[in-house]
This record gives sequence, C-alpha cells and structure tokens, in this order.
Amino acid sequence: MKLVVVGGGITGLAAAHRAVEVARERGAPLELTLLEARDRLGGTIASERTDGFLVESGPDSFLSEKPWALALCRRLGVEDRLVRTDDRFRKVWVWHGGRLHPLPDGFQLLAPTRLGPFVTSSLFSWPGKARMALDLVLPRGAGDDESLGGFVRRRLGAEALERVAQPLVAGIYTADPDDLSLAATMPRFLELERRERSIILGLWRATRRAPQAGTSGARFSLFVTFRNGMEELIGILAERLPAGSALIKRRVTGIERHATGWRVGTDAGPVDADHVIVAAESHTASRMLRYVDPALAALLGEIAYSSAATVTLGYRRGDVPHPLDGFGFVVPRTEGRTLLAATFSSVKYPGRAPDGHVLLRGFLGGMLDAGVLQEDDAALVARTRADIGAALGIEAAPVLTRVCRWPASMPQYRVGHLARVETIEARLATLPGLDLAGGAYRGVGIADCVHSGEAAAERALGASQT
Ligand SMILES: Cc1cc2nc3c(=O)[nH]c(=O)nc-3n(C[C@H](O)[C@H](O)[C@H](O)COP(=O)(O)OP(=O)(O)OC[C@H]3O[C@@H](n4cnc5c(N)ncnc54)[C@H](O)[C@@H]3O)c2cc1C
Repeated sequence: MKLVVVGGGITGLAAAHRAVEVARERGAPLELTLLEARDRLGGTIASERTDGFLVESGPDSFLSEKPWALALCRRLGVEDRLVRTDDRFRKVWVWHGGRLHPLPDGFQLLAPTRLGPFVTSSLFSWPGKARMALDLVLPRGAGDDESLGGFVRRRLGAEALERVAQPLVAGIYTADPDDLSLAATMPRFLELERRERSIILGLWRATRRAPQAGTSGARFSLFVTFRNGMEELIGILAERLPAGSALIKRRVTGIERHATGWRVGTDAGPVDADHVIVAAESHTASRMLRYVDPALAALLGEIAYSSAATVTLGYRRGDVPHPLDGFGFVVPRTEGRTLLAATFSSVKYPGRAPDGHVLLRGFLGGMLDAGVLQEDDAALVARTRADIGAALGIEAAPVLTRVCRWPASMPQYRVGHLARVETIEARLATLPGLDLAGGAYRGVGIADCVHSGEAAAERALGASQT
C-alpha cells in the first residue's frame, strides 16, 4: 500500500510509526511518505538546550492519565527516558488582587473536594464560597451541550468561574470559557451532574473511591516529559521510520482524487497514494480538501484556532526572592494582566536549569488576548517580566530570554464541536482512502494526538483499534 501522511507533528509521526508497526506485524508491503512543510519535524513540539537551560518552546509534558502517549513510549522502549514531575511541589497559585493565593488543596479544576482548605482559602470571598456551596442543593441542568462558562456560573457562581475555571482553562485551551463546549472538553463534569446532581458531592465521592492518578504512588506522575525535552520523542519516532520516508520542506498544496486513489500535490511535484492521512491543522486540511469535498472543507474551516506565545526566562536563583515551592500560577482575565499562566519549569521537572539558576515560562495570547501577539519580541519579554516580576518579587534582569510564537495552533472546541466532528466523520466515510487526524477533533493534548494518528493508521491498514 502507498500511504501518504501529511504533516510531521506528533500526530503525523505517530500515524506513520503505527503504519510501519502494523505493516511489519502483518508482513504487508508499505510504501510510506510523510510530507512536512517546515524545515523540521515536530510541529508545535520543539526543545532547545542552551547554556545549561532546557527550553520548551511548545508543550513541556504529556498526560500519563490518558494511556496512548505512554503506551507508545513503552512500545518504543524509551520509558527510561521519561522523567516525572517533582510532586513535592504540586502547589499551584492563582494571581488575584495583586498577590498569589494558593489554589486550595483538593480543588479539582472546577470545584473543591476538601472542606477545610476551601473554607480557609484566601482566594474566594465569603459570598463566593457560599455561592459555590449552593451547588450542593441546586437541581440538575438540561444536560445539553453548554459552554463551560455557562455551566460553572450556573452551578458554582461567577467567582468560581473568574478566579479558577477561566484561568485554568485558559492555561490548557487558551479559550474563552463562554464559547468552550463542556461536552467536548470536560465531559466528566457533565456526567457528574447527570449522575450525582451536585458537582462538589460527585467529586468528593469519586475522590473517596479512587485517589487521583499521580498522588497514590503511581509509577508516573500526572504529567511526564523526556529527560532532554519533548522533542526527544520526535527524534525517536523519526529514527524508527524507513530511511528517506519523512520529507521536510515539502508543503502540500492540494489533494485530488485520482483514477486509482489519491494525488497529493506538493511544491516539489505530486505524490500518488492509495491512502492519505491528513495530520495537519484543520484550517490547512480545509484548504487542501476544497476540491475533494467543499462541504467537508467548509466544516473543517469552521473549527476556530487561537494563537499563543511562550516567553521563557532564566534567572540566577539568588535574584528570585520567591521560594518557588510549586509548579506555577495562573492569572484570571479579570486581573487585567498579559500573562495567562506561568510555569516554574526547573521546579516542575529536573534538568531544566544549570546549578544556581531557575527557568520560568510565561504563556501569553489565546482567544481572549489575541492582540498581544502583534507586539514584537522585546515587548512580549517586557510584559512577561513585569507580570512574573510582580508575582514573584523579581527585579533583576533574566540571564536568558526566549520568545516563541505559535500562530493559529490551538484548536477551539466551541459549543457544538462534537456534532460538527460527527458530521465531518460521516462525510469522510464517503471518501475511502482519505482520513483526518490531530488535535482538532477529539482531544487537544499530545496523548490524544498520538491516539488519533495511530487510529487513522490502523484504519488505513485495515487493522482494528485496540
Ligand atoms: C504553546 C503550546 C503549549 C502546549 N502544551 C501542551 C502540553 O504541555 N501538553 C500537551 O499534551 N499538549 C500541549 N499542547 C498541544 C500539543 O502541542 C498539540 O496537541 C500537538 O503537538 C499537536 O500535534 P499535531 O501533530 O496534531 O499538530 P502540529 O504540531 O500543529 O503539527 C502539524 C504539522 O503539519 C504541518 N503542516 C501544516 N500544513 C502543511 C502542509 N500544507 N503541508 C505539509 N505539512 C503541513 C505543520 O508544519 C506541522 O508540522 C501545546 C500547544 C502549544 C501551541
């Protein structure tokens, strides 16, 4: 079979690798070509070692709770390259009213599961706490796909949304919670309401039944990464592909149906295929497929993307007065700062900064602050320094700065997303030999992307998904 994979990010590489595995298992012939437009593989995954610092320009870890990325590492035999978070420092703060407040112990994304830390928390006002407690008695909602913002406001009140849900969600999805589909992003909370009515009671019961992953002596923490950064995974996957099968600087310009299959147009000439997996962003996939199926292309074009930037700052440890005894902090939109979130990278993971130094990373942009990315690098560094400096009391200049921009890189699962994806999948089913994979559809993280890419490869080779 001639298989073409479009896009050399983690999704495309996972698809290509799985295709090679399945073909080998079955002794089936496979002619694989992976086409990547940029001059490097990895897409949004990029790590850089410089002056003893390890800078992650994009993702800095993946979730071990979702099994697919970890399972891939096991099959690749590189589990020993993984490092876990230093869970002595799991604390996260929220910036509010000019200072950092610890997120109360036991707070699970949207709601508290432990009474003591919640009641004594300085993050919420008394009326705010009372409003959150109302969740215990409020009736169920209609159960339709609603926005995460609407859901949290309805069950837990505006303060819970503004001070916790919005900034935590911005740190993951860079989204406006009033647009974000709860069903597509956090179906667990919808399910909790359906089953238990109260979110707080439901979470409380669930924690009693099964302690959270990463807190109970599990081999891996909730987030894991590679000793030399996330790009290690890209290098390992690329090495396992047949020599010469992954081509960089090969931009796909369009895809057409061909007498016996598909013709993939590139800026270096066409490549024919029996099967094509498009693992590029859905806005790009939309353009590639406009002549194959205009309705499919339109649906793909409707999936919005946001842009983000990371600004990494390295400091001498002595220049940072804060004890840095946590993973970082998030900043609610209502505080009017630029920063969405900051990670204390060298606390969270080992080997990120040389002795006597620390590495901090700011996250900027997103759906609610797209304009800031129009500014130049110096301005983004100045804004990040101002916000991180105010939170941690840093006045000294950093010894290292890095800015990395990711335009139109983060898919937004708006209300109605799942219905749109179902329609996309139904149209795809009428186009045998063509498949789509990636973070735009059924999960935005690296583990989801691995799953999506591998499932597409298995469909291509006619193997069932395990
Ligand atoms: C700043 C940032 C931080 C993140 N942090 C995390 C995190 O900590 N943990 C986590 O799990 N996830 C995180 N994510 C999300 C994660 O990075 C993505 O889900 C994942 O890397 C997407 O992989 P992908 O291969 O689907 O897409 P991409 O990485 O976007 O790759 C798509 C590839 O397709 C190529 N392409 C596009 N058009 C064409 C064309 N015409 N021809 C050929 N090739 C083309 C692109 O050049 C690109 O290489 C983060 C994302 C960003 C931007």
